[in-house]
Amino acid sequence: MPTLIVHGGAGADPADGRDELRAGVRAAVTAGWRVLGDGGRAVDAVEAAVRALEDHPRFNAGRGAVLTAAGTVELDASIMEGDRLRCGAVGAVRGIANAVTLARRVMDDGRHVLLVGDGALQFARAAGMPECDPTSLVTERQRLRWLDRERTAGAAGTVGAVALDRHGTMAAATSTGGIAGKLPGRVGDSALIGSGTYADSTLGGVSCTGDGEAIIRVVLARCALDYLKEADDATYAAQVAVDLLVDEGQGHGGLILLDWRGRTGYAHSTPLMPVGVMSPALPEPRVEF
Ligand code: ASP
Repeated sequence: MPTLIVHGGAGADPADGRDELRAGVRAAVTAGWRVLGDGGRAVDAVEAAVRALEDHPRFNAGRGAVLTAAGTVELDASIMEGDRLRCGAVGAVRGIANAVTLARRVMDDGRHVLLVGDGALQFARAAGMPECDPTSLVTERQRLRWLDRERTAGAAGTVGAVALDRHGTMAAATSTGGIAGKLPGRVGDSALIGSGTYADSTLGGVSCTGDGEAIIRVVLARCALDYLKEADDATYAAQVAVDLLVDEGQGHGGLILLDWRGRTGYAHSTPLMPVGVMSPALPEPRVEF
């Protein structure tokens, strides 16, 4: 049964603006479901859902991404299709509004899995992808946050999606501006297949969010699927994986998971992680947090 699950990042409770987060996640699920519910491919659905959140200024991806220590926007994204383990990713890329689509181009091109920095931008140009003025991705909200780092540290906003289509193909994607105040050139888990994103159509798909360095240390996305293989319970696997992140990785965060039957699971160790789900069993997108 086709199913889509979307997250809007693990982090602190923003106290205000919850309705905006909820509406943003709902719109992303709707965008992804337009593809999936119509019989489209899982990989197209996760790209559409993530693009919707990249375009939403309230989330930490695309426009609205957090700023580096230098006050710039550098984006990480990855995408994976689980039939033949095809995948693509970009790290520390500037001047591209939809990093997930650039990751998709890397995947479709097939020569490499991960391109970073200027090389990723050159590839985008050669692929004819639209570029943007890097400063157009900087929102007033993030500029103020950069000026006053302490006050708003830890807010949520990385985005991700996992989908299963009617052909039984699984796909997952993640996109982020990373962590606020990161050093220019830092690449986090969201660009790393196995850590931030993974999809295997025989098992399931995962998108992670949270402390990137900790997620990388425990290779969280792939581990979550190993737990799923052992326990055959998506919610349990997600929870055990988050426990691993906290205990072994010494970090916080969360993940969404979808198994090969279309069962969803998610867990987080942070106060907040917006999640949206849609399947033929639901009358409309269900947003939970
Ligand atoms: N995992 C992302 C990173 O470390 C940040 C986040 O999910 O909030 O780049």
